[in-house]
Amino acid sequence: MLKRLKVIVEKENIINKKQMLEDISTCTECEACIDVCCTYYSTENRLYSPLVRLQIINELLNEKEITQDEIQSIYYCTECGRCEVVCPEEIKISTIIADSKIELVNKGLGPLAKHNVIINGILEKGNSVNGDPEKRLDWIPEEFRDSEKFEDHPSDTLLYVGCLPSFLVKESASASYKLLKKAGVDFMILKDEFCCGIYPFNCGKIDIAKRIFEENINKFKKLGIKRIIVPCAGCYRCFSTYYPRLFGETDFKVFHIAQIIRDLIKEGKIKLKKVGHTFTFHDSCRLGRKAGLYGEPREILSECGIIIDELSQNRENAYCCGAGSGVRSIDKELSRKIGTEIIKESKSENIISSCPFCIFNLRYIAHKMNLDKKIQHISNLVINNIID
Ligand code: SF4
Ligand code: SF4
Repeated sequence: MLKRLKVIVEKENIINKKQMLEDISTCTECEACIDVCCTYYSTENRLYSPLVRLQIINELLNEKEITQDEIQSIYYCTECGRCEVVCPEEIKISTIIADSKIELVNKGLGPLAKHNVIINGILEKGNSVNGDPEKRLDWIPEEFRDSEKFEDHPSDTLLYVGCLPSFLVKESASASYKLLKKAGVDFMILKDEFCCGIYPFNCGKIDIAKRIFEENINKFKKLGIKRIIVPCAGCYRCFSTYYPRLFGETDFKVFHIAQIIRDLIKEGKIKLKKVGHTFTFHDSCRLGRKAGLYGEPREILSECGIIIDELSQNRENAYCCGAGSGVRSIDKELSRKIGTEIIKESKSENIISSCPFCIFNLRYIAHKMNLDKKIQHISNLVINNIID
């Protein structure tokens, strides 16, 4: 059983309020960011626009009172970063919004009640999706169950599976594991993997995020981990950006499985059959806009002979799926509305993404629309077409 994480609640001062206010003051109210914001175009409510969020944060940081609706507006931001791409003043809008949640928590105004349910679940069960910890390893492919040695197989490479792949998009975990085995990559998996901690970080609960990060860092250090491979865009962002933000440079480097697959193809360790169909590809915000990983998944698709049905909004302008940063857990309907654009625009019945959370939300949307879409993780495309 997982031991309950003890968390000492303390105010966190990792944000630079003066800098945030200075950045906000450069806003010219040009309104360029409004129409591209997924929460605005899905609700047509200016309260849920980047510009108004910055105005709310300006009030918050100047010690003015803000309303419950305004707090909700901050928490409705998916941190997709689409607004930043068009801002002529180059204001880091999504980072300012993310940091304002830390201030909301410091002032006792956040997170919202539903966020706390998930956070408590993480502390109790070690995962963000209310999964039974006893079933966390159910994704391990049948043929490897008896031979898997977990930490008893020393390696400096860790396949860190993540909560969504472990419980809700299990086939993405199995496929990532199998393809690494097939390509002869030496790696270990953890018997008692704990959530990466992105959820509390995104809610502004830095004290809890810090505690989780620290536990994971210590575990990785003890095992001598130098390389972490993840199938999830959220885990990728958390390990590559949030861990260093709280703890400085880490001993390990993080790679998304798409980067690893692309390299394995180049080294001739993975060979793929030519599928020869048209597939839609969705760039997840956390791998695309936030990390610039646009090419790797497209190279893999093209190696499969797939013609990519590019959405009208792709790469740095890609639509957000609507699920991230705790939004889906507080308003599933808003996440559904936001992600609908992707499903509506997709001309192919096959959609590929590198993010299990996008896949989970897009599947839900397609199901609600009674559409027969096959929405898969890039690892599943690879494992289904790998030449032995
Ligand atoms: S990060 Fe995304 S959801 Fe948040 S304000 Fe910007 S465009 Fe809107
Ligand atoms: S695009 Fe930038 S400058 Fe224009 S309103 Fe939005 S935040 Fe302000």
